[in-house]
Amino acid sequence: MKILPPVTRPPTTPFSRSHDPAPPRSQRGYHAFRPCLRWEFGFTCALCMLHEADLVEYGIRPTGLTTVEHIVPQSEDAGQSSTYANCLYACRWCNRARSTKPLHDDNGNVLLNPTTSAWADHFEVRDDKLAPKTGSGKYTEVAYSINDPFRVQRRAARRKDIERCRTLVLEAPAEIEELSRVLESLVMSNKLEDAEAIRRLARRLNEQVALARQALERYQGVPVDADTACRCRPEPTMPPQIADQLIDL
Ligand SMILES: [Zn+2]
Ligand SMILES: [Zn+2]
Repeated sequence: MKILPPVTRPPTTPFSRSHDPAPPRSQRGYHAFRPCLRWEFGFTCALCMLHEADLVEYGIRPTGLTTVEHIVPQSEDAGQSSTYANCLYACRWCNRARSTKPLHDDNGNVLLNPTTSAWADHFEVRDDKLAPKTGSGKYTEVAYSINDPFRVQRRAARRKDIERCRTLVLEAPAEIEELSRVLESLVMSNKLEDAEAIRRLARRLNEQVALARQALERYQGVPVDADTACRCRPEPTMPPQIADQLIDL
């Protein structure tokens, strides 16, 4: 099983679209793009880089916590609302924060588009924030409120959770082996009460490892409720910008 890294790094290349769904019949039909967009952006908000698992424990589908963000807002050009190339996968917080903020500010900074700009050119991870490195990064950060307390708290929660649980899962087997060596020698020297205490300790440690694994499973890169097919592909795959960062559990 592949899980998220403790920290999602800003991609070093733009997301390149691999989906090409048929246009929906109605203007509000862009919701039909949702399965394509989920896979296209790796179940990750293309703007603040929060993954679905950062927002909800099991299955985002009925929650409304993620949505379709229009690069050119519907209020500016309704015709583009159901154009796939104008749609991004985004969390509700990014979508609400931007609302209809324009594509550039008065100083020539542009609202960055993750399908034409590599986030790593404009942002770096610092203290659970996506710290902007450029003027356009700054405008984009403010427009989407990328580092509001909620987003920073969600990034910190995942980082701590995964680091703590992975350390336990990786280090406990050697400790359990050590305990069984001690146990063996206690039994050999007939110290049965001490042996029982060590046995209990080993059992407790095993239980903790099982719990840690369970906690890590919520961070699967491909969530449990991922669409098995989308509007245009029978077997959609993760984009390299996210897939390359996943780690083995
Ligand atoms: Zn598709
Ligand atoms: Zn977001």
